[in-house]
Amino acid sequence: QEFGEISIKDIDQVAKTSFPLCMRHLFEKVKEDHHLKHGGRMQLGLFLKGVGLKLDDALAFWKAEFAPKVSAERFDKEYAYNIRHNYGREGKRTDYTPYSCQKIISVTPGIGDHHGCPYRHFSEENLRAALVRMGVSSRAVEDVMDKVHNRHYQLACTLTFEAVHGSSCDAGINHPNQYFIDSQRVLQS
Ligand code: SF4
Repeated sequence: QEFGEISIKDIDQVAKTSFPLCMRHLFEKVKEDHHLKHGGRMQLGLFLKGVGLKLDDALAFWKAEFAPKVSAERFDKEYAYNIRHNYGREGKRTDYTPYSCQKIISVTPGIGDHHGCPYRHFSEENLRAALVRMGVSSRAVEDVMDKVHNRHYQLACTLTFEAVHGSSCDAGINHPNQYFIDSQRVLQS
């Protein structure tokens, strides 16, 4: 496997080890609900493109995840266009870039939305539970919550990275795809 490219068969594994919390959450939700609203599809879809999921794999991924709720015919009609669009194959053929932390933190998710930054948008209770599920120790959880209370969301994410990887991240987290790359670097070294 080439660095910076993932195939559909590796995606569950790397989601567990190397996705930042914002993307883990969207990934878990699409598996659970077999659906994601537009904001979530954009945030996760562009991130997956950034980690190296090819267009054909992306189409196969979303189609399979949506299958229990969305027929193949409806998928092709309502969703495939947007995915191809994100890959620059439709419309103005712009190659859309994955969202930065700053952009994700600044959105206002509505009811039933799962995009956004968990450090900013989760309730304290849900955030604590999510951190524990990621394997963050209780002491590190308190350090993360301290940053959250001071509205330092990216620093909270950086501390989470350091806690789950047992490795420092001096540059700090400013992009979900940077989190992914740094994580893969630590895990493959
Ligand atoms: Fe995602 Fe950035 Fe928030 Fe971390 S700080 S959860 S990478 S948006």
